[in-house]
Amino acid sequence: MKLATVTVHSYEAGTLRLYFEPLAGAPATTAGLDVGPLFDELPGLAKHRCDNGKHRSFCDEARDTELAHLFEHLLIELAATSGAPREQLSGATNLDEAPARYRIRISGLQSAVQAEVCRENAMRLLKRLKLCV
Ligand SMILES: [Zn+2]
Repeated sequence: MKLATVTVHSYEAGTLRLYFEPLAGAPATTAGLDVGPLFDELPGLAKHRCDNGKHRSFCDEARDTELAHLFEHLLIELAATSGAPREQLSGATNLDEAPARYRIRISGLQSAVQAEVCRENAMRLLKRLKLCV
């Protein structure tokens, strides 16, 4: 099942910008979904800092957040595990168009190829882990 449409807006100087739009009928948030396997697959996720405005660790945040926000963190972790210096990576997810189109920005990537591979792998992870109802 396809969960979302991810459209690349641009890649420039290590910064990838994309749009993330959950499909109708797919969950827009992780509430009630089992995100545990993602942390098993990518242990570094547990150490992510996350400015969520609620002083929650990413582990807590991931259990109830927008799918787009989770996708941002997956992309960052995949970039880190594929050679991008962790301390240079950062990201942000913002609502672009209500009700559910999000803008995601990831900075600190090493190349357009890395950006594309990480984007594909993040989509694959979401699908493989059946983050859908
Ligand atoms: Zn975050």
